[in-house]
Amino acid sequence: MWEWVQSAFNGFIALMNTFRLTDVLDIAAVSFIIYSVIKLVRETRAEQLVKGIIILIIAFALSFQFNLKMLSSLFSSFFQFSVLAVLILFQPELRRALEQMGRSKLGKYWTSLASTPAEEETVKHTRACIDSVVDVCDMFHKTKTGALIVFERQTKLGEIVNTGTVLNAIPSTPIIGNIFFNKAPLHDGAMVVRDGMVYAAGCILPLTKNDQVSIDLGTRHRAALGISEYSDAVIVIVSEETGTISIAVNGVLTRDYTKETLKGELEALLLPQPKSAEEKIPIISGLRRGRKNEKSEKKSEDD
Ligand code: ATP
Ligand code: MG
Repeated sequence: MWEWVQSAFNGFIALMNTFRLTDVLDIAAVSFIIYSVIKLVRETRAEQLVKGIIILIIAFALSFQFNLKMLSSLFSSFFQFSVLAVLILFQPELRRALEQMGRSKLGKYWTSLASTPAEEETVKHTRACIDSVVDVCDMFHKTKTGALIVFERQTKLGEIVNTGTVLNAIPSTPIIGNIFFNKAPLHDGAMVVRDGMVYAAGCILPLTKNDQVSIDLGTRHRAALGISEYSDAVIVIVSEETGTISIAVNGVLTRDYTKETLKGELEALLLPQPKSAEEKIPIISGLRRGRKNEKSEKKSEDD
């Protein structure tokens, strides 16, 4: 027994002698990748897919163990295409993960290296656009005119823009008011704001796949949630039925905005924040969202 412990200890010491700093980095990188994959799988519908794949692997191992030749050859030819199959099956999750990576602090640092003086112009246009959108939404709230306005952020929405008509107009209250006037040709669908410009209108958005969404919400609100799940865009919705102003971000819909709260939220989400405040914003707006959500859910339950 003592000899076994001693040889195990000697083996451990020998292993530690060959251990290099790069091994630590290697282990840390692999651990991080495994952690990220588990996190990604647990947060999405990929969990069911992974369970299905695990069942297939167990069935393959059993067929191999019990020498079931036909079944094991069927499984082995299936697993030959498994990399391709995984890429196809997990395409939305992989795409989102890569986009999230691009939006991470490292990605932001990378893009900030390539920033140009044109950014200041964009901020000026965005500020003007927020003012026009807030004025128009307040008017639409009173007149119960439906509107769907998508503010593009880092995720480029070229495929969405291609479904509508490109305008590239300087934002103003009359322009936005005209787009959503219910006899105007472009009033159906969404308006896309890019770099502070009214870039396109009449665009078709993907509907949310979330089946937990209240049945009270129609396709306009579902389309807003859909694009907010697929990208980092900020979407403002005015309901034609109730005049309610809502915002969708990251798959979360918050409702009952007033002119003032809408302006504050859009400025926080779309304009660059002072350095020290930047770190705090997601937490503060997350809390605010949570409370508003509770309120709106409670309201719909009461209804
Ligand atoms: P509201 O409260 O305004 O009635 P709602 O969430 O109940 O909104 P609907 O009544 O179904 O939604 O709204 C229909 C309008 O929403 C359409 O006329 C169109 O302008 C817009 N819309 C519906 N689906 C999409 C989509 N996929 N992409 C963009 N706009 C859409
Ligand atoms: Mg409706």
